[in-house]
Amino acid sequence: MDFKNYIRVIPDFPQPGISFKDITTLLSDGEKYREAINELKKLVADLKIDLIAGPEARGFVVGAPLAYALGVGFVPIRKSGKLPYETIEVGYDLEYGKDTLAMHSDAIKPGQNVLIADDLLATGGTISTSVNLVKQLGGNIVGTAFLIELSELNGREKLDGIDVFSLMTY
Ligand code: IMP
Repeated sequence: MDFKNYIRVIPDFPQPGISFKDITTLLSDGEKYREAINELKKLVADLKIDLIAGPEARGFVVGAPLAYALGVGFVPIRKSGKLPYETIEVGYDLEYGKDTLAMHSDAIKPGQNVLIADDLLATGGTISTSVNLVKQLGGNIVGTAFLIELSELNGREKLDGIDVFSLMTY
């Protein structure tokens, strides 16, 4: 598959030394976007999935169409203060500063099998916080799925052996 041809790599964004992987060039190609979601669907075909959870905002762009393709539900993981109902929250460190992710406290029924999806695995901070939230709600994490994995940042190591499925690796 030539998915990497559809990723625009921007040097020194958002700061010097970072090589940003821009997925908007893949998303805007309808055929390739669909192909990417279908390939991710094949990668997770052996898992028993009840729900997909994805962190805002690019986790929605991957997780929601994958959930639709699999015929399972989608649950948003959002920044603090955005969800209207009762929430649970987990804070995490960013490269500079801190952030907090939240989920509705009734978003997952205990024991449900949850796949977590995002566009990209970098240091693993976002996804391990998402794992933490889903676990707190009693969800059983069956794996994580990404369009892109930046392998040199070792995000997998933060995931304690949870399976990582990624379409492209840099
Ligand atoms: P992590 O928490 O360090 O694993 O970073 C992953 C999060 O940052 C994901 O939600 C991505 O959307 C975003 N991110 C980090 N680097 C990039 C990039 O090169 N391209 C697109 N998104 C990125």
